[in-house]
Amino acid sequence: MHISLETLRNSPGQTYSYEFIQEAAAFDLTEDGACFDRPVEVKLEAVCRDGKFHVFGSLRTSLLSECSRCLQPFTLHLEGQWEDDLPAEEMQELSVIGLAREMYYTALPLKPLCAEVCKGLCSVCGVDRNHEDCGCDADQMNDKLSVLKKLLLE
Ligand SMILES: [Zn+2]
Ligand SMILES: [Zn+2]
Repeated sequence: MHISLETLRNSPGQTYSYEFIQEAAAFDLTEDGACFDRPVEVKLEAVCRDGKFHVFGSLRTSLLSECSRCLQPFTLHLEGQWEDDLPAEEMQELSVIGLAREMYYTALPLKPLCAEVCKGLCSVCGVDRNHEDCGCDADQMNDKLSVLKKLLLE
């Protein structure tokens, strides 16, 4: 998957649009075992202007993930973007796979959350606080721990 930059170079000022809808493996995105539940959509717009290629790209897909707070599986909707100027004289073609990987790995969260408001697991008893109110008082537990620490230190 490549975009020929020759075409762009020959029509300066004209914007070209491209769309690629492929399975994640075609974009080389499956090396870490991610399970995608739909194809990956990559859209690119490129124009040759003032001796540079101006490229704007976006990526969209969704995959199975695990919430870093409550540890429940959920579907992570991922959207990435990329925009840059590339020197026109040095390049012959643009790797769509390279751009897709760049957008994907930049957009992928280090700590995925099933929801911004996810309450996570109780640090005292371990229940999923999204589903159950266990009534534990995490602060109280911390107090107890600090008392214990004090006793141990004395
Ligand atoms: Zn969660
Ligand atoms: Zn609890």
